[in-house]
Amino acid sequence: MSKSIYGGPVFEMARQQFDQVADHLQIPEMERDRLLYPKRAIAVSCPIHRDDGRTEVFQGYRVQHHLTLGPTKGGTRFAPSVDVGEVAALAVWMSWKCALAGLPYGGAKGGITVDPYTLSPRELEALSRRYMQEMIPFVGPHTDVMAPDMGTNEQVMAWFMDTYSMYQGQTINEIVTGKPVSAGGTLGRREATGRGVAYLVGRALDHLGIKAGNATAIVQGFGNVGSVTAYSLAEKGVKVIGVSDHTAAYYDPAGLDVAELQRHVAKRGRLAGFSTQSAIEPSELLLRKCDVLVPAAMEQVITGQNASELKCRILAEGANGPTTPEADAILDRRRDEIFVLPDILCNAGGVIVSYFEWVQDLQRLFWEEAEVFERLYRILERSFRQVIARAKRDRISHRLAAMAIGVSVVQSAKSTRGLFP
Ligand code: GLU
Repeated sequence: MSKSIYGGPVFEMARQQFDQVADHLQIPEMERDRLLYPKRAIAVSCPIHRDDGRTEVFQGYRVQHHLTLGPTKGGTRFAPSVDVGEVAALAVWMSWKCALAGLPYGGAKGGITVDPYTLSPRELEALSRRYMQEMIPFVGPHTDVMAPDMGTNEQVMAWFMDTYSMYQGQTINEIVTGKPVSAGGTLGRREATGRGVAYLVGRALDHLGIKAGNATAIVQGFGNVGSVTAYSLAEKGVKVIGVSDHTAAYYDPAGLDVAELQRHVAKRGRLAGFSTQSAIEPSELLLRKCDVLVPAAMEQVITGQNASELKCRILAEGANGPTTPEADAILDRRRDEIFVLPDILCNAGGVIVSYFEWVQDLQRLFWEEAEVFERLYRILERSFRQVIARAKRDRISHRLAAMAIGVSVVQSAKSTRGLFP
């Protein structure tokens, strides 16, 4: 690529990972840019009236990585860290994730540079609606389908769907996924990512011959992914001994009551204030001994600095991009000690059930919850087996194996379709 607009540490990480896979797959140099660099990047400024009467403009983005397999798909993030490089990296990862799961999508991601917790509910609605309105020329049920991510939720998706629909003059449920069931969402979507993580952790425990009832877990992040993962692990009999969010961290070797933590967060919107007894320094949490460590918050938390100090048997990546390439090199040397469930496998439950939601919306035919989870686990099981088998065959890490499968799917679709004109 002559000169690209994508920069910053997160895109750099996606690029380094891609280079590693491309080397492993021996992808010719001249095909690499076409696979890595996003097809489109849209930047919009979103003005809203603040409650105090001021007008404020927020910067929004949407990056659509490739259009080779179908529409693009991915979440919308409201966070202060959002910039075009971060969103592009997340879009690239969505592509490998969708391809690994066999979904007919390219990856996308979007976001607004804003701390959503500083907005009133009215301001949040205004910003959500204005963002979607600005995106209307660039999205569509067969072009690009949004979903929740960090800082957004079902309510934001309902506002997106409503805004798009009002402009079309009819209800278009299939424009976004992760909607409330009352607005055309699917049963099971809210729990899908966390339950998917717990399913794969269960498979990894089996693989290592550890009984769930004897295992302990620490979960970083207590949003939609972290809280449901913690709950689902506890349901399997795993003892959850540590949790954290951006406001607090708690650790108790005797086990924490996850349902109680969830009730606290539902009431207060944050973990802080839950207990004084079990509070610990958040940065320490990742380094405590446990069987299952689940980073389910943000990128780049497992680094070259702390990777050699992790004391877990399974690293289950609920977040996107939690492990830096420097940490990966260390984890690669510790392959016999730590079983990695890489992000594009581990957290794929969310986008898989988003795909089910989109299919149901298009068909106007809704499934029972049992069908949703049965189909979800079937896809996760297939992906899990593929990744383990590929890693064993080629003597490579689970991450490299997962990415190699995903990248190969996109590469072969591109070469079969050819290059236009
Ligand atoms: N934001 C989620 C992810 O990173 C879900 C995307 C989707 O459902 O489209 O996988």
